[in-house]
Amino acid sequence: MSARFSILRHNLHDTSTKLLTRAASVIPAGVNSPVRAWGAVGGDPRFLVRGRGAFVWDADGNELIDLVCAWGPLIAGHAHPDVVQAVSNAARKGTGFGAPTPVEIELAEAIVAAFASIEKVRLVTSGTEATMTAMRIARGATGRSRVIKFNGCYHGHHDSLLVKAGSGAATFGVPDSAGVPAAISELTSVVEYNDIESLRASLAADPPPAAVILEPVAANMGVVSPAPGFLKAVVELSHAAGALVLFDEVISGFRVALGGAQELYDVQADLTCLGKIVGGGLPVAAVGGRADLMDLLAPIGPVYQAGTLSGNPIACTAGRETIRLLDKRAYETLEMRGAALESGLTSAIRAAGADACVQRVGSLLTLFFGVESVSNFGEASRTNTEAFASFFRAMIENGVYLPPSQYEAWFVSLAHGDAEIERIVDAAARSLGA
Ligand SMILES: *Cc1c(COP(=O)(O)O)cnc(C)c1O
Repeated sequence: MSARFSILRHNLHDTSTKLLTRAASVIPAGVNSPVRAWGAVGGDPRFLVRGRGAFVWDADGNELIDLVCAWGPLIAGHAHPDVVQAVSNAARKGTGFGAPTPVEIELAEAIVAAFASIEKVRLVTSGTEATMTAMRIARGATGRSRVIKFNGCYHGHHDSLLVKAGSGAATFGVPDSAGVPAAISELTSVVEYNDIESLRASLAADPPPAAVILEPVAANMGVVSPAPGFLKAVVELSHAAGALVLFDEVISGFRVALGGAQELYDVQADLTCLGKIVGGGLPVAAVGGRADLMDLLAPIGPVYQAGTLSGNPIACTAGRETIRLLDKRAYETLEMRGAALESGLTSAIRAAGADACVQRVGSLLTLFFGVESVSNFGEASRTNTEAFASFFRAMIENGVYLPPSQYEAWFVSLAHGDAEIERIVDAAARSLGA
C-alpha cells in the first residue's frame, strides 16, 4: 500500500475517530459495553449511524455488510419494514405505562408456543436479568445456594455468573471481575464444556447444587456446538443430583430453531433464559419454564423480581413482530445461507493455505485461527488471536463488519442474501490471502 493510499484510507474513518475522542471524555473508553471497543483487534470502533437489511453505514459514510447484527437480535436484518412500522404505530400510542398491556400477552404467548418446556414466562429487560432471575428461582425452589456453570459460557454480568465467563471477559482477559465479592463467586462452581465427567464430579461435591446453567449452543467463546448426547446427559445427571437445569438460550433461542437448542437437540430445560431475538433489537428478555417454578415469583410466590421497564410495549411489539417473521421457511433459509457461508469460507481458507477452521450451528458461526476444532474454552483460548486481528482489519477494509473478537459468533440474518454471502466470501478470500 503506498503512503498516499494509506492516508486516504485513514481519512475514511476520521469522523468515527473524532466521535470516539469526544465519547471517551464522558463515557469510559467511549463505549457503553466493552465488546464494542476494538481493543482486541486494534484501531477505533466505527460509529454506526444507519442500518438497512444486511448493511450498516458508519459516520464517515462507509457501507459495510454487517455480521454483528446488534450481537444477535436482528435475525430479520436492520430496520425490517414490518418491525419499524409496528414499533412506530406502538410509539404513537404511548411509550410505556408501568401497567400491564395487551402486547405483553401476545409476546408471552408466542414464547410459550415456541418452547415446549415453557408454560409461563416473565418478561425482563436484559439477558443479564433473565439469568439472574432464573438463578434466584432455582435457589428459591431448591433451598440450595451453589450453582454450576461451564467455563467460557457467558450469562450476563451479574455477580454470581461473572466467573470464567466468555465473550468480552475472555476478550479483555478478565475471567473474574474486580468488584465481585469472593463470598458470592465461591457459590459458583465452574466445569468444562462438553466434559460430562467434570460436571459429574461437581454435582457430587458439597454443598449440593441448586442449578446447572449453560448455553446449549456455546456462542460466547466463538461457536462451539454441544457434543452428541452432552445436553441430555447434563439434564439427566443434574436432575439425579436434585439440581434444576437452566438453559441460557439468549443467543440460541429463536436462532437455531423457533424453539431454540431445545427443539434442535430434542431436550428440555426446567428454566429457559431468552434475550436478543425475543426483543427484535429493543430491550426485552425473558425467563420461562415450568408453571410450578414460575409461580414462585412475586407477587404470588416468595421469590422477588421486578422491573420498571419490564414488558415495555414498544419493545414487546418489536419482539412480537420479529417472531412473526420466523416461519419454517425462514429457518430453512437461515440454514442454507449459513451453510453457503461456511463452505465459501472453508474453500477460501484452503485456497489461501490458512491455518483456520469454521464452526457453525445454523446461522451462527465462527472462523477460528490456529486450531483444527474447538470443543471447550481451553481449546478456544489456544486460537491465534493475532491472526484474527489482522483478518478483522482486512475484512473491514474489504467492506465486512465482523465482531471485533475471536471469541464471538458471527450472525447471519434473513437479509443476508446470496449476493451478500458471496461478497463476504470474496472479502474473506482477499483478506486471508493478504
Ligand atoms: C448476551 C448474552 C447474555 C446477556 O444478555 P444482555 O442483554 O447483554 O444482558 C446472557 N447470556 C448469553 C448467552 C448471551 O449471549
